[in-house]
Amino acid sequence: MSKSYLFIKGDAIMKTAETEEECLPVFLSFVEDLAGENAVDLVMYLMVNKMTDRELAEKTGYKLNKIRKKLYELYSLKIAKYKKQRIEETGWHSYVWELSVSGFEKYILDSIETIVNKLKQRLKFEEENMFYFCVKDRDVLFSFDEATELGFRCPRCSGPLEVFDNQPIIKKLKTAIEILST
Ligand SMILES: [Zn+2]
Repeated sequence: MSKSYLFIKGDAIMKTAETEEECLPVFLSFVEDLAGENAVDLVMYLMVNKMTDRELAEKTGYKLNKIRKKLYELYSLKIAKYKKQRIEETGWHSYVWELSVSGFEKYILDSIETIVNKLKQRLKFEEENMFYFCVKDRDVLFSFDEATELGFRCPRCSGPLEVFDNQPIIKKLKTAIEILST
């Protein structure tokens, strides 16, 4: 377990990264899933250098409020930490942020039970529900209720909705649960 980095994509499909090169994209996907796309931008800058919230705002062009909100999200996920620093000229304080990957790893290891429970819930949901999709516009899935409401017609192209085979997802979820439960 120690060398594996867990990774939950939005649809709860899990992968593990075994090598260091794999770790970065895996880590970044994790950041994106947990804290959103903008958080990834902040993490990329913090990988290079420690920075204050203001410096991050300058670099990214995002509003300071948004940056602070994201940074605290990253803080609560133990991905980032900060140090309070006094600015000599003004006497005010600023917060210098840096990444805390070891804290994040610990967070993930501590969260395994929660992750397993989430995967189990997702598995139950996948097993108990049927999903429909349009063969032409493959990107959207509809629940049975939604498909019924739509009269089993795609809202974009009016083509027929077909049953989506979620067996591969179920299989992946079962494997992930098995790996994490041992
Ligand atoms: Zn369609």
